[in-house]
Amino acid sequence: MKVTILILLIGISVGAALYFRLLLHTDIIYTHFMYLPIVLACMWWGRRGMLVALFLALLVFSFHLFGMRVGSIWNDLARIALFGLVSFFIGSLKDRERAERRAQEEVELRRKELAELARKQEEQLEHSTRLAELGEMAAAISHELNQPLTGIRNYARNAFYMLEQSVGSVEEVKGNLRLISEQVDRAAKIINEMRELARKEEHHFTRLAVNSVIRETVEFLSPQMKLSGVKLKLQLAEDLPDVRGDRTRLAQVFLNVLTNARQAMEGSQVRRLDIHSFRGSGEESFAVVEISDTGKGFSKEEAGKLFMPFFTTKKSGHGTGLGLSISKTIIKDHGGSIDARGERGKGATFTIRLPGIVQEEEENHA
Ligand code: ADP
Repeated sequence: MKVTILILLIGISVGAALYFRLLLHTDIIYTHFMYLPIVLACMWWGRRGMLVALFLALLVFSFHLFGMRVGSIWNDLARIALFGLVSFFIGSLKDRERAERRAQEEVELRRKELAELARKQEEQLEHSTRLAELGEMAAAISHELNQPLTGIRNYARNAFYMLEQSVGSVEEVKGNLRLISEQVDRAAKIINEMRELARKEEHHFTRLAVNSVIRETVEFLSPQMKLSGVKLKLQLAEDLPDVRGDRTRLAQVFLNVLTNARQAMEGSQVRRLDIHSFRGSGEESFAVVEISDTGKGFSKEEAGKLFMPFFTTKKSGHGTGLGLSISKTIIKDHGGSIDARGERGKGATFTIRLPGIVQEEEENHA
């Protein structure tokens, strides 16, 4: 297409030149037409467009060779020089612009390649982090299950030995079998809690008043609290926003945090448990619950591990170390957060934040 246009323009300019020279016998302005194909060629092909200028220059020069000379040869030489200058100038500008564009495209391409590389690396990192977590979990699980399994093997061997060698009383054999049964229960508990940790989808979300879930849990735990000599203080805000949540699972979180608090206070002189709920301020409304105890607290190092699966400071057989990590998973499923602060020997405070139902959401669910 471009070549056709150029041939057409060259044809027109040559025709005009011949017309001006042969019929009008003047050499004024005939070369002006030639700038059109020269400029266009240089704009399209850069300095390569100078070939068109060269062709037209030869043509103008040939007029003198073939006796079509009208003006002086110096005039035409000056015109030819101008062809060269104009075409070189425009061609160079065009080439430079093209080179810049190409460099820019290359930079863009490189940027895209780097972004892709970064994305792939991130994916790989995520994958290896997940694998590492999985490895840690597997190590922790095998460690946790190993304890009851070792117990079961030892008690079973004991019982077997007693029966085979006819040593020990029936009561002693029974005792070993009871211990085996306890260890089986412990292993089953670990497995069940792990299933809970992995459970994600089965939600039964409804509109909930967090205060009522707290009251139910406290009521359920109150005999144990009384037995442990724990003084409970409830300070529940009336204006707490309702939340969308799974009642049983939220109760499980409170049950876990409150039981931990009760156990943490077993060695304390003062045993006070404060449960305080209030409306959290910020961009969105939050139902915030703070549970503070006067128990043994925890060190800075322990604080970083509280929510990790299988982290426990309780005596062997008393804690699986899964309660808080399950609680964290549940609260995260509700779009909220749970964190802990405390100091060794100075008690602990667990804060649970749950997003409140906002006006629009209320209307949507109405
Ligand atoms: P578990 O109760 O089976 O040990 P959790 O995940 O519920 O597992 O708790 C992990 C650990 O966090 C506990 O062993 C305990 O050391 C620490 N912890 C939890 N709550 C408290 C608390 N209120 N005060 C001090 N330590 C706590």
